[in-house]
Amino acid sequence: MVLMTGTEYIESLRKRQPLTIYLMGQKIENPIEHPIIRASINSIALTYDLVHNPDYHELMTAKSILTGETINRFCHLHHSVEDLQNKVKMLRLLGQKCGTCFQRCVGMDAINAVYLTTYDIDRKLGTEYHQKFLDYVRMAETKDWTIDGCMTDPKGDRSKRPSEQANPDVYVHVTERRDDGVVIRGAKAHQTGAVNSHEHLIMPTQTMRKEDSDFAICCAIPADAKGVTYYYGRQSCDLRRMDETVEGDVDCGNPVYGGQECLVIFEDVFVPNERIFMNGENEFCGRIVESFAAYHRQSYGGCKVGVGDVLIGAAASIAEYNGVLKASHIQDKITEMTHLNETLYSCGIACSAAGQKTPAGNYLVDILLANVCKQNVTRFPYEIARLLQDIAGGLFVTCPSAKELNDPETRKVIEKYLVGADGVDTLDRIKMLRLIENLTMGRAAVGYLTESMHGAGSPQAQRIMISRLSNIEEKMKLAKTLALVEE
Ligand code: SF4
Ligand code: FE
Repeated sequence: MVLMTGTEYIESLRKRQPLTIYLMGQKIENPIEHPIIRASINSIALTYDLVHNPDYHELMTAKSILTGETINRFCHLHHSVEDLQNKVKMLRLLGQKCGTCFQRCVGMDAINAVYLTTYDIDRKLGTEYHQKFLDYVRMAETKDWTIDGCMTDPKGDRSKRPSEQANPDVYVHVTERRDDGVVIRGAKAHQTGAVNSHEHLIMPTQTMRKEDSDFAICCAIPADAKGVTYYYGRQSCDLRRMDETVEGDVDCGNPVYGGQECLVIFEDVFVPNERIFMNGENEFCGRIVESFAAYHRQSYGGCKVGVGDVLIGAAASIAEYNGVLKASHIQDKITEMTHLNETLYSCGIACSAAGQKTPAGNYLVDILLANVCKQNVTRFPYEIARLLQDIAGGLFVTCPSAKELNDPETRKVIEKYLVGADGVDTLDRIKMLRLIENLTMGRAAVGYLTESMHGAGSPQAQRIMISRLSNIEEKMKLAKTLALVEE
């Protein structure tokens, strides 16, 4: 059993066959050394390194239910309510450490969803997907893989079903069935950490009807499989990573860590039988989507809270640098940020605490509470970010470039006029302002804000689930009973 370090993880990426990656008009030959991509790799590397830190080892690892061995928790099939809660705690920790999206959770959520779904399919239809999937998870645990959980198809015309699309490739689907496997074609959008993964675990994106059966495919392929192309997503302020300043990458705000989203294209990719976990069983697409979404909506009650902790810390730090930390209105705003952030955490913990064992044996979060968690995540981070911008003052968007600090003449001017409270280094003040820009408007804002809105499903997707699970009839009965209404 391997528990890789961050360095070993990066080395393992180098061992893949060359990937085809397009980033800002260029074909990237060496993704690992590319400054934009490297920052996102650094974030995932943390999920490996913290395992070897005695303070975090217990939280970052789990006992495999398949082998009994100690494994990285990101490869774990949750086996108790405590496991579910520890997952949330681990994601909060990582959000605190990198201040952005560390990408590896999608695969953890995907293996748990596919595990319980393949069990259900086999039980009902007598297929043999579950055993094949167990072998796959065992391999993932042994090799300590980062898996990209691949769910969201580009979807084309949203008013049409997959089989009605003029261009069927806007959904991943089977184009050929052979004795030894299938050939798939299509694309997945918004793929978090796709270039940094060892594997893609492809799942259907929505419920499918009988006529959409070719789109009801769940399978795994290596990230370097033949026929896979990556189009790297641009993010706000990404070129800051290409800047060099004497003082380091001050203008990046978060010089070391970043997130990653890609459009991944699959052009006639062959998948052997042993890596196919659903092949046309359209009636089980809903189960896979609903459980994956629930796990990933739970995740946001951890990772976004950890990044929220960084925003709160940045608010207090810039207030300190400005000499206003003790002002009552600042304290009150920081208290409000904390209240909002801990409310999100409470939701993450609550949906875990109310989780239950599935027939397959792993644990699934409470689906209603996980959807409530994510619905709050579509709102509260925006308010937390607003309060941070309020406390920071306007300088985080008007501050001159750190390059001005390279020239002693201009540096003198910057240091004279952008000075803060007594004893505060002007450069430290600028670094904090750039971090605030990064978190609320720059690259990390993709992870903290837009992803809070749309990741794991846009707000309406949660509202549909909340309305479906809210049991209004029962609540009407309660009210009528108390009012002594007899119907
Ligand atoms: Fe993990 Fe959060 Fe990024 Fe999703 S958004 S991959 S849960 S860090
Ligand atoms: Fe996400």
